[in-house]
Amino acid sequence: MSSRNVGPGPVNFIRSKQDVADSIRALERGLSFMRLIEGIGCSGCTNYTGRECALYRGHEVPEEVKRTGCPSWNWDQIPF
Ligand code: SF4
Repeated sequence: MSSRNVGPGPVNFIRSKQDVADSIRALERGLSFMRLIEGIGCSGCTNYTGRECALYRGHEVPEEVKRTGCPSWNWDQIPF
């Protein structure tokens, strides 16, 4: 294994300090976006009808689950 093949994925494309800076910015943007999505609960889940969860029909989703989502959370791809 060459030393260029160690570390996280983008390392193979790094040839200069500018590449490093660009990679850091891209990773920070990605992390910020993941943190934004992490905070979306039922309202951003494809299973949410606006009133209830389609998976657990007939059962009210507790407020704390509505805020955070459950393990079956399926993102609707809308980032707000
Ligand atoms: S996050 Fe879970 S409880 Fe909420 S709508 Fe989606 S599947 Fe239902």
